[in-house]
Amino acid sequence: MKKYILALDQGTTSSRCIVYDKYGNKVGEAQRELPQIYPLSGWVEHDPEAIWSTQLYAIETAVKRACIDPKEIAAIGITNQRETTVVWDKRTGKALCNAIVWQCRRTADYCEEIKRSGYEPILKEKTGLIADPYFSLTKVKYILDNVDSACDLSEEGNLAFGTVDSWLIHKLTNGKCHATDASNASRTMMYNIHEGKWDSEILSHFGIPESMLPKVVPSSGYIGDAEILGTKIPICGVAGDQQASLFGQCCFSRGDAKNTYGTGCFLLMNTGDDAVLSERGLLTTVAWQIGDKLTYALEGSVFIAGAAIQWLRDGIGILASSSDSEKMALDIPNTDGVYFVPAFTGLGAPHWDPECRGLISGLSRGTDRRHIVRAALEAMAYQTFDVLTLMESESGTVIPALRVDGGASANGFLCSFQSDISCKPVIRPQNTETTSLGAAFLAGLGCGMYSSVEEITSLNKNPTVFEPKMDKNTRDQCLSGWQNAVKKTILR
Ligand code: ADP
Repeated sequence: MKKYILALDQGTTSSRCIVYDKYGNKVGEAQRELPQIYPLSGWVEHDPEAIWSTQLYAIETAVKRACIDPKEIAAIGITNQRETTVVWDKRTGKALCNAIVWQCRRTADYCEEIKRSGYEPILKEKTGLIADPYFSLTKVKYILDNVDSACDLSEEGNLAFGTVDSWLIHKLTNGKCHATDASNASRTMMYNIHEGKWDSEILSHFGIPESMLPKVVPSSGYIGDAEILGTKIPICGVAGDQQASLFGQCCFSRGDAKNTYGTGCFLLMNTGDDAVLSERGLLTTVAWQIGDKLTYALEGSVFIAGAAIQWLRDGIGILASSSDSEKMALDIPNTDGVYFVPAFTGLGAPHWDPECRGLISGLSRGTDRRHIVRAALEAMAYQTFDVLTLMESESGTVIPALRVDGGASANGFLCSFQSDISCKPVIRPQNTETTSLGAAFLAGLGCGMYSSVEEITSLNKNPTVFEPKMDKNTRDQCLSGWQNAVKKTILR
């Protein structure tokens, strides 16, 4: 009778809901855009009530479209934009101010101060993160220091903090439950990833009262009852978006890795029981907690990936649509020595140069737009390869295959070139919406619909596998050409 899972996917720009059956097939979905608020340059906020109302709209509409009885829903899984910070009054359930979104840079100076004070290595050792405005800690601190009522409420023990998962759980359960899962907690910079609990030393250093923090629960298992759709539905799975996608890709073993090709790229590698601390700028994070057991991941990102394709389309107009890039790339045998390093906002891991800017090199009289478009696609693969290689060297673990998703993973040329350059199979699942699928799988496991991760793996049928085909000489030439172009980009 209970046949369906409701996956809530609360993202930065929209709230979605997908109804899945137990085989991982979509039976209904809905989405509503979430308005962005930009009060000052570099500041980004969301209205917490809008996060909730758009999510509720998506839930009701998706269930209606799926033509199912809400009583047939076995469980809810939640996945969410990470790090975004909401603070509310426990007595009224009302947020004190807008949510401070992960992208918001308002605490950049404060992060510099943390660095200067010499506290960053301690934060990094305990939380796996670097002192950057992305993470929730400095956002909470900002609210405590700047919102009038925060101080009084906190002294009375009536203040609650949560990332977006907590906020949704609070709303879904009518304020009965104040919880977050370990993967979301690990993005707050207040959670000790080794001990698996809020770090009291960090909290007292920054003056954050522990009474405002949610209870940290496993990513899979019963959390509370959502009182929606005229019934009660157990919430049984929660994970931050990138971790959910790692789970949705069935990256259950150490060395399993996924890459999401979107505007930028997000790479995560499962490192099992090992919280590998990176020397060269990767983040260490909790992948998920099942029962008492924490599984860790290394995370790296590429700042500009699909955005370079967007730029060729909208900025300089040599491409009609993003998907045309595949045909153009396949129209020529190679880039004829053209490399495109899209360092529009500097370069991240492993190069770490925030000041350098983009470069197109190797232009000749014979170069036309196809070469430049192909070079932009190849750059996504090279940048991904650089992060993968760093992950392998820092973890001492070989990544046997790379699983891919995200908008640009639809590009077969890109997947195939990625496989050639990385010299490993690239696997693209049929359903590339791995984030919502991950939330559904965590909830399905948590409510007993699935008995094991092996059962979940067996649902991942008929992926497209791209095997490496490039000969060694060509690959060496391609890679050394890329490395030279990166050197030119960095040495100004
Ligand atoms: P995000 O979630 O980061 O907004 P998506 O996962 O929707 O991004 O992916 C969109 C990005 O992927 C855009 O930057 C777009 O240019 C790029 N993209 C989409 N389809 C293709 C394609 N077929 N080939 C290459 N790039 C693509």
